[in-house]
Amino acid sequence: MQTRFTTEQMADPAIRDCERNLRACVHCGFCLSTCPTYTLLGDELDSPRGRIYLIKDMLEHDRPATAEVALHVDRCLSCLACQTTCPSGVNYQHLIDHARAHVEDTYRRPFLDRTLRRILAMLLPYPARFRWALRAAGLARPLARLFSGRLSAMLTLAPARLPAAGREESLHIFPAVGPRRKRVALLMGCAQRVVAPSINSATIRLLNRHGVEVVTPNAAGCCGAIVHHLGKAEQARGLATAAIEGWMQEIAAGGLDAIVVNTSGCGTEIKDYGHIFRDDPVWAAPARAVSDLARDISEFMDEIGIQAAIPDAANLTVAYHSACSLQHGQKVTRQPQALLAAAGFTVREIPEGHLCCGSAGTYNLLQPEIAGRLRERKLANIASVGPDVVATGNVGCITQLQRGGNAKIPVVHTVELLDWATGGPIPEGFAGKN
Ligand code: SF4
Ligand code: SF4
Repeated sequence: MQTRFTTEQMADPAIRDCERNLRACVHCGFCLSTCPTYTLLGDELDSPRGRIYLIKDMLEHDRPATAEVALHVDRCLSCLACQTTCPSGVNYQHLIDHARAHVEDTYRRPFLDRTLRRILAMLLPYPARFRWALRAAGLARPLARLFSGRLSAMLTLAPARLPAAGREESLHIFPAVGPRRKRVALLMGCAQRVVAPSINSATIRLLNRHGVEVVTPNAAGCCGAIVHHLGKAEQARGLATAAIEGWMQEIAAGGLDAIVVNTSGCGTEIKDYGHIFRDDPVWAAPARAVSDLARDISEFMDEIGIQAAIPDAANLTVAYHSACSLQHGQKVTRQPQALLAAAGFTVREIPEGHLCCGSAGTYNLLQPEIAGRLRERKLANIASVGPDVVATGNVGCITQLQRGGNAKIPVVHTVELLDWATGGPIPEGFAGKN
């Protein structure tokens, strides 16, 4: 694609990066067939190629975002299915991240939209605030059917009962069982540790049982992904640098073999820190070091090998839902399924596995209608393989697919099944339903 940026514009490294990606796009349209929003809405402007044209026009003319650009950028899930499909190597992730920040900086959203986004950015990255907000939402949950749109979506997604905080909230070193083979830091995260602390508990048990010491530095909380996708680039950088600093202190104190991440949306962001901070004189080197150490839990377990399984896992069929951030963002597809099979489960792939379930960070709160349609499509595809349980590597997908807590088929994190199969407790989301 031809571009027309001025020399002055090209002095900005962010524009240079966008320009490189815009030029790589050859308009072939291969990406349209795998884009969930194009599949549902059939509008070229809700396809990757259409959005690329909108972004190009906005950036070349250095224009503020219009309502039309904001609409189509907002409707993008950042699922990155287009990036997997593109034969020309367009890095759509970097383009859409830049476009979201540009929209945030230059477009004045309607009052309610602006306020909602501000509230989400004030709550989600901070576990104590988020816990408080969820308690309030849980009380109001029975009223969800009186409302429509975003308010109804928010109340429906709030859990009826918040799980108690795990021991991981007060301890920060979890020694290996037996001789220590590795030492890793685990990202404790933000929203996940509030809505599903059992995932971090299962991860730590699994790692310890396999001879891995786990540390959870206090400073490494939210990785910044959730606000980055809201276009709040500066807030995201602040959260990211705090996390990087926490991990660098751990590296200096005892060394780290890996930074393990069990929320794939966060893993995609952390692996991109090296790019995000590439021109920062202070943070470029530590950000690159952190990105190089980041591993999804399934990648790490695949590297060290899983212990022999126990018989409980036998005769259970697991539908593996490959979270977009894991399959498209990180290109991790083989390891989770291989680990589940090695642990004794029968693993089934879900038809249309490339399509997003509609979770996508805050997407199911901000775009509930499209997210709801994607969820129904995903649930129908899951049901078609007749599983006992669904496993996935991202808490957002679990929340989305279990919306309202009344999912017919339990949805758990892959690591909870691996923990169970190697000697841990039965996953909370599965107990009583099997
Ligand atoms: S990231 Fe997903 S929703 Fe957005 S354009 Fe690409 S395929 Fe479509
Ligand atoms: S597949 Fe790649 S090159 Fe083709 S239109 Fe989509 S983004 Fe452009």
